[in-house]
Amino acid sequence: MTELKVPGDKSISHRALLLAALADGESRIRGILTGEDPRATASILRELGVRVPPLVADAELRITGVGVRGLRAPGRMLDCANSGTTARLMLGVLAGQALEATLTGDESLRRRPMRRVTDPLSRMGARFEPLAAPGRLPLRITGGALRTLDHRLPVASAQVKSALLLAGVTGGVSVRLIEPGFSRDHTERMLAAAGCVLTATPEGGANRVRLTAAPAALDALDIVVPGDFSSAAFPLALALLGGAGEGVVLRGIGLNPTRTGLLPVLERMNARIEVETGSAPEGGEPAGDLIVQPSDLTGTEVQPEEIPGLIDEVPILAVLAARARGTTRITGAEELRVKESDRLGALAANLTNLGVEVEELPDGLVIEGTNRSLAGPVEARGDHRIAMAFGVLGALAGNAITVDAPAAVDVSYPGFWEMLERASTPAGRPSVPDSSEKDVEPARPVRERKRGPVIVIDGPAGSGKSTTAREVARRLGFRHLDSGALYRALTCALLESGQPPDSWPALTESDLNAHPVRMVAAGTAFRMMLGTRTLSAELRSPEVDAHVSAVARLPAVRGWLLDRQRQAGRKGSLVGDGRDLGTVVFPDAEAKIFLVADVAERARRRLLEKGREPDSGGAVTAEAARLRARDRIDATRGTAPLRKAADAFEVDGTRLSFEEQVDTILGVVRARIGDRGRQGSDLRANAPTTRE
Ligand code: C5P
Repeated sequence: MTELKVPGDKSISHRALLLAALADGESRIRGILTGEDPRATASILRELGVRVPPLVADAELRITGVGVRGLRAPGRMLDCANSGTTARLMLGVLAGQALEATLTGDESLRRRPMRRVTDPLSRMGARFEPLAAPGRLPLRITGGALRTLDHRLPVASAQVKSALLLAGVTGGVSVRLIEPGFSRDHTERMLAAAGCVLTATPEGGANRVRLTAAPAALDALDIVVPGDFSSAAFPLALALLGGAGEGVVLRGIGLNPTRTGLLPVLERMNARIEVETGSAPEGGEPAGDLIVQPSDLTGTEVQPEEIPGLIDEVPILAVLAARARGTTRITGAEELRVKESDRLGALAANLTNLGVEVEELPDGLVIEGTNRSLAGPVEARGDHRIAMAFGVLGALAGNAITVDAPAAVDVSYPGFWEMLERASTPAGRPSVPDSSEKDVEPARPVRERKRGPVIVIDGPAGSGKSTTAREVARRLGFRHLDSGALYRALTCALLESGQPPDSWPALTESDLNAHPVRMVAAGTAFRMMLGTRTLSAELRSPEVDAHVSAVARLPAVRGWLLDRQRQAGRKGSLVGDGRDLGTVVFPDAEAKIFLVADVAERARRRLLEKGREPDSGGAVTAEAARLRARDRIDATRGTAPLRKAADAFEVDGTRLSFEEQVDTILGVVRARIGDRGRQGSDLRANAPTTRE
């Protein structure tokens, strides 16, 4: 059996950061999740004056709290990125602080409802001003003196409940809540451990929670964050479906009963899971090991009252249902329509596309299990749990499923794809998670797939490499990698980080890990992302232009980006452009072009591209000087300097039209790679379904 650990619990990680920040004295947190969601919480706390060190996997985090009302007014908008927990909990934390702050988030978070939190917080005395749409982020909050609250939640929600309890703590007032069900209770447990007087009593099917007194100072924490049950659910499902050989042992998983509602449902489905509980770690959170064996699953009915206990597990449960014998019916899950995506819609659409029979209900799904082989692309809609659920399905022998947004998993499970690779049996290794790769033939074991050829186009600045490479890629039906955009994306991240440029040369590769620069395969290109934000126009800003070559000459930067570029090469047929693709990144590329042009001509084209008049007052001379300066930096650096590879074919585009330039290059490429460069191969079949 494969032994696995999963990343720290996301819910507990957020709460640990918040409570450590609000406590008096130094807190110690081990096992924190280093994913993007808790990072959003950490960076907001830094903005609010708390010294939170970078979140590093497996390292102990020490935070000195500023006290319950000690947060400082922020200097800028507080960005919750994709994290609903950050947004809602932070609204509660800020409600009791005498300051003004504005919370925002990424596009998906800005669509999510906040009223269930802001309405009761307004009754307590906090003020909220929506800056875009009513009840949505961005929201300006004015906190201060609060009143006590008596409130009945419309749906059982841990985020709403936690926000209101945290407002009680920061406002120093009592809070009485009635929840129509039992949502996760990490906040209650952790507040009690920090010295709050708090009770939770079941009353019929409802949960009555009372915070009767919040101390003037919270005790510092000393906790071990257990493995996230919601993350463990993915390898657990893989093992149940026989995708992990004899099974898996998942160690140190949080077993808080408000989180493990999936287990009784799986038991009804005939799952073979043994739970070994260990001693409860500090903070009052139970944890233990799960031993999971391949099982012959049968369909079941999931009742509305079971949903709060498995709210995050519905995506993976739907995947299990698709492989179980008979019908599975899930109802009472309308809450899933306002998660990171409309999860019910996303599950129904993707399962149907793969060939599973699904009926979408307003509040659930009816899924007919099948053992047919399932193949096709999955649109995860940027949702980490949708991406992971289908990642598991794709890892099963006989299925050929590709997920369009593999990087989405970083929100809660950094290293998910590597785990899948390691845990899955040789017969059912996961495909490279990438939606639009069509050289994967359905139902053929994916690892037998032939790797597509790599074509590189290097050359000096402004020689038209990117536009040319994009067109060459389009004509060949290959994917295009603009490697300069990667250097630009990192430059954006560094500029935004506020660290002064003269400190950049000292950065190490592990410092660079703090910058969530990602490259996501999207249709016929790669999208550059910073966290959950897609970078486009900002990549070509004058500020980035001015700094990018200096960034690109740093050895740490080149090392850091090398692997990422090579990974792009593993995703199928590629045309890449840059400076060192032929010499360093892909020395074994099937065809190498070195594209040059007279510097005045390059300057003229660059100006035209920017919509400027090339002839006006010395503009060409000035632009040529800028290009020369960048070339000089690129050609004289110690690591991977701009240089023509010995086996590259030089194309001088000075006197060629764009079409002639493309045709010349295609001629060279076809001479080198023969049939594989024929129009109509590879990605072309996929062209109509690309998303960009
Ligand atoms: O191609 P582009 O002008 O967008 O590239 C931006 C900068 O990134 C270049 O000036 C160069 O300094 C750097 N770069 C590099 N190696 C590559 C691609 C770009 O050093 N392969």
